[in-house]
Amino acid sequence: MTEKVDAIVLGMGVGGEEVAECLATNGLNVIGIEHHLLGGECPYYGCVPTKMMIRADDMLAEGRRIPGFAGASTVGPDWSPVARRIREVATDNWDDRVAVERFEKKGGRFVRGTGRLAGPGKVTVNGRTFEAGRAVVIGTGTSPAIPPISGLADVPYWTNREAVKVERLPESLLILGGGAIGLELSQVFARFGVKVSIVEGMDHVLAMEEPEAGAVLGEVLRRDGIDLYLGVHAKSVESSGGVRVNLDNGQQVRAEQLLVATGRRTNIKDIGLETIGLDPAARFLEPDPYMRVAEQTWAIGDVTAHGGFTHMAIYHADIVVNDVLGRRGPAADYRAKPRVTFTDPEVGAAGLTEAQARKQGIKVRTGIQKASVTSRGWIHGPGNDGLIKVVEDADRGVLVGATAMGPRGGDILGIFELAIRNQIPTDDLRHLIYAYPTFYRGVGEAVRNLGEDIHQPLR
Ligand SMILES: Cc1cc2nc3c(=O)[nH]c(=O)nc-3n(C[C@H](O)[C@H](O)[C@H](O)COP(=O)(O)OP(=O)(O)OC[C@H]3O[C@@H](n4cnc5c(N)ncnc54)[C@H](O)[C@@H]3O)c2cc1C
Repeated sequence: MTEKVDAIVLGMGVGGEEVAECLATNGLNVIGIEHHLLGGECPYYGCVPTKMMIRADDMLAEGRRIPGFAGASTVGPDWSPVARRIREVATDNWDDRVAVERFEKKGGRFVRGTGRLAGPGKVTVNGRTFEAGRAVVIGTGTSPAIPPISGLADVPYWTNREAVKVERLPESLLILGGGAIGLELSQVFARFGVKVSIVEGMDHVLAMEEPEAGAVLGEVLRRDGIDLYLGVHAKSVESSGGVRVNLDNGQQVRAEQLLVATGRRTNIKDIGLETIGLDPAARFLEPDPYMRVAEQTWAIGDVTAHGGFTHMAIYHADIVVNDVLGRRGPAADYRAKPRVTFTDPEVGAAGLTEAQARKQGIKVRTGIQKASVTSRGWIHGPGNDGLIKVVEDADRGVLVGATAMGPRGGDILGIFELAIRNQIPTDDLRHLIYAYPTFYRGVGEAVRNLGEDIHQPLR
């Protein structure tokens, strides 16, 4: 038997929850389907627990910076309050009762189970079929991508899911992958006394962002005692009292524990996409600017090529809510897509990197300023690593991309997102009054450096 409803949300992660709650609040009869935890990756295994870990390791790092600047300090790391805070405060011991109640109070109906599309407008779950009169929204997110490395399947390894649940730290940890997740976790564990190594195939860490930022971050991580194996790949993995990873350059790296952080894959293979005329083998879903992927069907968040972040899932959700309710809101605009890697220093970026801009045929001028030579960076002293880099479309005199790396780099990013999206002339940024001595004053300095040779060594 088929039950008719107004809207079905398949996958109640950050994006799905937002859409389902808003549609329910607006009086629609909404079914939210989730087979694990309502709220998804971010609150239980992603942003929230990892940022709690980062807050803790930042405290340790600041404590260690006291000598020579503010007296003496003895820092004694203890993981147990971090694990407890994640378990008790962040995740309710990985229990979503509160989130389910909140959703139901807003008028939504929650179904725990694995949903599958069953033709246009239809979703089956737990042997029942629901048919949506107005909308089906796909927000099934991603899972860790596990690379096909010989022997990997035979050794125990962590992904982010196990890493955020750890109660006892290993003595040593080998991380496969030097992207945002691997780097954030590497610094956390290293600062709590774990001997950390990272294996990364590219020749610098954080390869999707500006190489200058990756180079500075690499140095910071080395100072944290992390061993970086760059430009090499793991060829095979064996257990040897812990794990041993054999690299393609002949080196071997050992550790008590292995963490795989080599990217994410979308959860779209087994959700019945073929029943609505979409390709289940695709890497991502490709919505139109209003997030529509088929008749009365929308896709949001990590399943799309412009996901990857909680703020993107919520951004998509808002577009879908407007579209479903027939309110013509703005279409998706990714020109200033912001993202932050929450290492210390933070690496915030918006829009295009220099390489991406050049690839698009844009006539590029760049400007760069080291965080440590700005007044505030110099006053700050230890922990002042970083840089601000701006990428200008020289023909139009507007920024198309920018990086803000340093203390509070993620917050400085706001000015760049606005400038890029609203096409604020670079000349206006040059003549803005930047409060003294702030970190964001470096924005003005980078803009004034536009056109200078950015390939000089940064230090
Ligand atoms: C370690 C880590 C740290 C991160 N840190 C940040 C950060 O600091 N800032 C940031 O912006 N982003 C961060 N992210 C990314 C962020 O978590 C994701 O971008 C966000 O969760 C995407 O939301 P979503 O709704 O698209 O998918 P998800 O949150 O992945 O939710 C998808 C949901 O669908 C469910 N599901 C899948 N298939 C089915 C099915 N067939 N039936 C029923 N349910 C199904 C899943 O169980 C899941 O709950 C981080 C991610 C990780 C892994």
